[in-house]
Amino acid sequence: MSQWPRVIILIDADAFFAAVETRDNPEYRGKPLIIGAKPGTRGVVSTCSYEARKYGVRSAMPISQAYRLCPHGIYLSPNMRKYVEASNAMFEICERYTPLVERVSVDEGYLDVTPEDGALIAGRIREEIKAEVGITVTAGVSYCKYLAKIAAEEAKPDGLGVVGPDEALEFLKDLPVGKIPGVGPKTAKLLEAQGIRTAGDLRSVPPGYLEAAFGKHGARLVELANGIDDTPVVSSHEAKSVSEETTLEKDESDKEILHAILAGLSQDVGYRLRNHGLKARTIGIKVRYSDFSTLTRAKTLPYHVNSDAEIYGCAKELFDNLALARPVRLLGVAASNLSTRDIAQPKLFEQDEKSWDHVSKAADSLRKKYGKRIVNLGATLKK
Ligand SMILES: [Mg+2]
Repeated sequence: MSQWPRVIILIDADAFFAAVETRDNPEYRGKPLIIGAKPGTRGVVSTCSYEARKYGVRSAMPISQAYRLCPHGIYLSPNMRKYVEASNAMFEICERYTPLVERVSVDEGYLDVTPEDGALIAGRIREEIKAEVGITVTAGVSYCKYLAKIAAEEAKPDGLGVVGPDEALEFLKDLPVGKIPGVGPKTAKLLEAQGIRTAGDLRSVPPGYLEAAFGKHGARLVELANGIDDTPVVSSHEAKSVSEETTLEKDESDKEILHAILAGLSQDVGYRLRNHGLKARTIGIKVRYSDFSTLTRAKTLPYHVNSDAEIYGCAKELFDNLALARPVRLLGVAASNLSTRDIAQPKLFEQDEKSWDHVSKAADSLRKKYGKRIVNLGATLKK
């Protein structure tokens, strides 16, 4: 099997609103359930259960049409507060496995779990969501976002679809062009008029033809037809940073002790970054004084870091630039601007960075063996 360049999972809840309602009202199980506007109004269907879909009811359909198709259905108004709660619970489970979780809607999100076993993690997430949130989700696993998405669509509902690099072209061969993301009904019609019905057909079009016909969009189509999609998973809100903070046992003014605590926090942040294969370009600190006034400072570097020493170097510099007004009650270190990839690094730092990587790696293996407090930077020893 060829190596997976990335491991991407798409998690998508099945008939999400309907599933949450059925969870809370078991008497709806197995019945056509339609969430949306009230029948008799001009609104539309938000979600419907798979039973309702059997009658031809679909999302975004006028509610009056749904009512004609399925007059004996159960019609409910959406309870967004409840759905958002279930959504957060679902994504928190995903975030146990990686901070790189991109929520694309209330019930759909991408995860980058490189270099882990995607099918294994997706399977666990599906089980945990079922057990803890009480709904089923479908997962698609692939080496890029769009194939993960299509793999999930094919596996719905309550399924797990996996498309590896070796299977991609075969998987795409018969995929209708209209199912390729970004191909709307208009483009699909234009392509079909030229005998291009599937992604496989797209691949056999002479080079340059689609670029000439569709410009930039055509070039993108050629890539997608060949299973190429480099779009990164961009983490949403909470997961945008990795941070650690600690409230001190007593308010502290001794700089040496505060440095030692910062060093420990830097190590914790570095350890979490490295565990997730992440590097950060922005390092921040948080200082809360004895009177509860709080300030934060951050510094963005020209390159990504994740070694304890570099994170601590930044945190210490930021801290030393503060004129400490009062004793400190709480200290925090945060890393943001996260990436799984390096941006081009100035040569000057290469030597240093490599050796720090080495030190951090050695420290990580000791931590994994003996627990996280065993390995300390020089500064933490002064505690
Ligand atoms: Mg869904």
